[in-house]
Amino acid sequence: MTPDRPAHSNYSNPDQPVPSFTPPTGTSAPEPSPASVQRLAADGTWAGAGDSAAAGGGVEVTAAQRPGADGMLPVPGVAPAAGTGGHAARPATERVEIYDTTLRDGSQQVGLDLTVEDKLRVAAALDSLGVDVVEGGWPGSNPKDAEFFARAGELPWRNATLAAFGATRRPNRDADADPDLATLLAANTPIVTLVGKAWTLHVDEALRTTRDENLAMVADSVRFFVREGRRVVFDAEHFFDGYVADPGYALAVLAAATDAGADTLALCDTNGGTLPDDIVRVVRDVTSRFGVRIGVHCHNDSACAVANSLVAVGGGATHIQGAANGYGERCGNADLFAVIAGLELKRDFELLPKGRLAALASTAREIAEVANLPFEPRQPYVGSSAFATKAGLHASAIARRPDAYSHVDPAAVGNQAHVLVSELAGRSNVLVKAAEMGLDLSADPQLATDVLDEIKAAEHRGYAFEAADASFELLVRKVAGRRPAFFELEGYRVVIERAGTADRSEAIVRLLLGEQRVVAVGEGVGPVHALDQALRKALADLYPELAEIHLVDYKVRILDGRAATSAVTRVMLTSADHQGEWTTVGVSDDIVTASWEALADGLSYGLLRAGADALIPATA
Ligand SMILES: [Zn+2]
Repeated sequence: MTPDRPAHSNYSNPDQPVPSFTPPTGTSAPEPSPASVQRLAADGTWAGAGDSAAAGGGVEVTAAQRPGADGMLPVPGVAPAAGTGGHAARPATERVEIYDTTLRDGSQQVGLDLTVEDKLRVAAALDSLGVDVVEGGWPGSNPKDAEFFARAGELPWRNATLAAFGATRRPNRDADADPDLATLLAANTPIVTLVGKAWTLHVDEALRTTRDENLAMVADSVRFFVREGRRVVFDAEHFFDGYVADPGYALAVLAAATDAGADTLALCDTNGGTLPDDIVRVVRDVTSRFGVRIGVHCHNDSACAVANSLVAVGGGATHIQGAANGYGERCGNADLFAVIAGLELKRDFELLPKGRLAALASTAREIAEVANLPFEPRQPYVGSSAFATKAGLHASAIARRPDAYSHVDPAAVGNQAHVLVSELAGRSNVLVKAAEMGLDLSADPQLATDVLDEIKAAEHRGYAFEAADASFELLVRKVAGRRPAFFELEGYRVVIERAGTADRSEAIVRLLLGEQRVVAVGEGVGPVHALDQALRKALADLYPELAEIHLVDYKVRILDGRAATSAVTRVMLTSADHQGEWTTVGVSDDIVTASWEALADGLSYGLLRAGADALIPATA
C-alpha cells in the first residue's frame, strides 16, 4: 500500500525551501585551536604536544592536511552547499564537544551488562578523562537507569555534564500529559537528549502516524524541556537514510526541533551504513542551513564510524557522539577514544582538559575491566598491541628511530611501544626487548646469542613469547644468571575425582624453601585450580605478597603439526596485581604439566614485580 502522502508533498522536494529553518547569517568562522600538534625533532624523538617546531627545528608529522583558515579540513571533491556561506552560520567560538553514550547506546552491546555501581564507575572514569557530556541512560526505559540518575550526584563531576535520554512524546498526546517525558524530566539533568524520527519510512511504518504529527511530536517535546530550562540535544534518528529518502522531510524534522529551541542537532547514522563521503556532504548541507550546533552519532556497521565522525568534523560538525572502546549493539558505536586521539593529535583540536589525553589508554582499560569485557589488543591508540611491532629485521631501526614505525608517539595516549619476540627474531630484536625490561645485554655479545638460541629452541618446542612477556623475561634472566628463585619444586600429585555430576580435584605440592621442606594440599574445581591453591598455601607464610596476585585468564591451545602422534599443549596464563597484568606460557605433552609451568612462572614473576625477597637472589 502506498502511504497516504498528499498533505506532505511539500517535504518531498529537496529543492523546495525547508519550512522555517534558520537562514545562514554572518561570515565569521570558528578559530582553529592553538597548535598542539606532535612534532618530530631532528633527532627522531617525539616532541610533546604544544612544543614549538621552531624550538626543536623539527618537522610537522601531520603536515598533509591542515585545517584551512575556517578551521575546516579540505575534503576533495566536496564543495560546501552552494550559496550558503558554508558553516559560517555557526557561532565563531564553538569548540568540538565530546558526547559519550557508553552508558546508554554503548551498553546495548551483547555481553555488556552494567550494574548501577558499574555505571557510576564508568561515568567517573569518563568525567575524569574529561569528556564534555556523559549520557547516563534512558530513565524511562528501566529502573536501573532511574536509580543511576538518582545517585549520579554522588560523583564529583569535574568536567562532564550529565545528559538523560528519551524519546519524543507519544503520537496524539499532550506533551504535558506524557508519562515518559515526566520521567525524563524527573531525572533532573542539565541536558535532555530527545530522539525523534527523521526518516519517512520510520514515521510511516514504525511510528505509524502522520508525518505532520511526527513534526508536532518533535516540536512539542523539545519545547516542553526548553520551557523547563533544560538544554535540549535533538537526536535525529536514521537521519542519513532519511535524508536520502526524503531530504525535505528530514530537514523539516530538524527545523521543528530548532524552532522549538533545541540547541544541538545530532544527525544519527543509526543503521551505520553510510560512507564518509556521504556523511560529509550531508553534514555540510545541514551546517549551512541551521545556526545551531550540529553533531553526528555514527554506528560502525560499515567499519566507518570513526572515519565518519572525523570527516563530519571536517564538514563542520562540532558535537561528536560515541562510546568508550566502540561499544554498542551490532558492530558498535564510534570509538570515542580513537575519535579524540585523531582530532587532538592530527587535527589540532583541544577536546580534553590539558594533559588528559595521556590518560586515554588507562581509561579505556579501566572501562573494559568494569564492563568485564576482554580488552581488544588491536584497538587503535589504546590497545596493548597498538604499538607492538614484530619485526626482527627492523628492531634495531625501531630502537634508533621509533617515530619511523609509529603513526603517533604512544606516550601521547598513555600507551607504550613493544617489540614482539618471535622465532624470526634477530639479535637486535632480543637486545631491544631485554632493554625494554631493564636488562642491558649489549655489553655481552655471547649472552645475546645464548638468549636467542634458547628462544629459538623453546619456540621449536611450542612456546610462543609474543604475548608472554613475563615468561620471556624469566627466560632471559635465567640465561643471564639473573633469575631469582623463590621456591624449588620437589614434586606434586593431582587427583581428579568425579562423583555424580560434581568434579573435584585435590593437589599435593611439595616444595623446597631453602633448608625447609613444605607440603601443602589444595582443593579446587579442576586440577589447575587445585595446584594453584596448594602452591599458594605452601608459599603464603613466606610471601605475603601473593595475596595481591590473582589469575585473570587461562587459555589452552592444542598444537599439532610437528608430531602427528603426540599433540602438544600450550597454556597461556594471565596474572594481575593492582598495577597491571602479565602473561606466562607453559608447554608440555600433558595439560597439567603445561599449566603448572605457566602457573609457577606467573607467581614467580608476580613476586619479582612485588620486590619480594628471593631465597636465592639473582646474581650479578
Ligand atoms: Zn545509536
